[in-house]
Amino acid sequence: MENIYNLTIEQLEEYFLGIGEKKFKAIQTYSWLYEKRISSFDEMTDMKKSVIEKLNEDFTLESLKVIKVERDKEVNKYLFELYDGSLVESVLMRHDYGTSICVSSQVGCNMGCRFCESGRLKKVRDLKAYEMVLQILEVEKDIEKRISHVVIMGIGEPFDNYENVTNFIKIINHPKGLAIGSRHITVSTSGIVPKILEFADFPYQVNLAVSLHAPNDKIRNEIMPINKAYKIKDIIDALKIYYKKTNRRITFEYIMLDGINDSDKDAQELCNLLKDLNCYVNLIPYNETNNIQYKRSKNDRILKFYDIIKKNNVGVTIRREFGSKISAACGQLRSKKEEL
Ligand code: SAH
Ligand code: SF4
Repeated sequence: MENIYNLTIEQLEEYFLGIGEKKFKAIQTYSWLYEKRISSFDEMTDMKKSVIEKLNEDFTLESLKVIKVERDKEVNKYLFELYDGSLVESVLMRHDYGTSICVSSQVGCNMGCRFCESGRLKKVRDLKAYEMVLQILEVEKDIEKRISHVVIMGIGEPFDNYENVTNFIKIINHPKGLAIGSRHITVSTSGIVPKILEFADFPYQVNLAVSLHAPNDKIRNEIMPINKAYKIKDIIDALKIYYKKTNRRITFEYIMLDGINDSDKDAQELCNLLKDLNCYVNLIPYNETNNIQYKRSKNDRILKFYDIIKKNNVGVTIRREFGSKISAACGQLRSKKEEL
């Protein structure tokens, strides 16, 4: 039986037409699922009994199991168990502009970035769209508030699970779905070039972030094996096409790793690489983990790196650190649990 939260509005309309009902029942159903938050189809008081029976036959409303919640002032971290026993996590962050959630898109990740906990644990499977939707619904239930921003930056490579991720975006962006504005949704990729090009034609104005983490192929090859398949130049060329089509500014993520990618020369080389793009760089202080040897760059190094980029007139920010105390970086909670 399929989970009802997996369906985009078009798919649900098709379903109703297929069972000889009017298309608008899809909107009605969305409003029960996402506005009224029912836990059983029987609560849909404006639906005929025969339709409710059919929905009960064809769909489940089953949610994710919350295994663990870690709470801090600015961050909550959730560990979920999926129907097959797989574990994924979501992180909720409170900002002055609202709340954002970092959603996982796969169980594990095959990209194998050397600094990343998620990459240490090989991909088991892709998440279905409903498993991403339910991460949001469960967290909203817990905090009793609506989430304003969504970043697909948890465990997994979203562009290695393109169809489910784009369906997920359609569902949460729909005004009768979770109604999260497309400009409040960000997808982060390690740089899967063919999918960046496909994404350029995806007709939703969502933000794209690219995990660059190095100013040249030599360094990037060492820390991100995916760079052997898609070189930095291929990524930049794809992003130029993406920009031409979407006119949307690109974010580059850059983890600051002590002695690896954080020299003055690296900063200058990064600026030369990015100077023709409408973009900005988000410097991320590395969140150290027990299993991986890399160290976070010293604070004064991060500030110097920041200054060089700024002087070159490239937009730059330093990511505020969230929840390093409660293992909030990508894959860390799940990884701890798997070791128990
Ligand atoms: N696979 C996608 C999205 C998930 S990873 C991607 O790589 O972009 C989200 C971000 O977290 C990436 O920029 C990744 O490099 C970063 N990240 C992974 N491990 C981290 C750590 N220990 N500390 C800080 N950032 C980390
Ligand atoms: Fe996968 Fe992203 Fe981690 Fe790399 S950084 S292993 S792409 S989740």
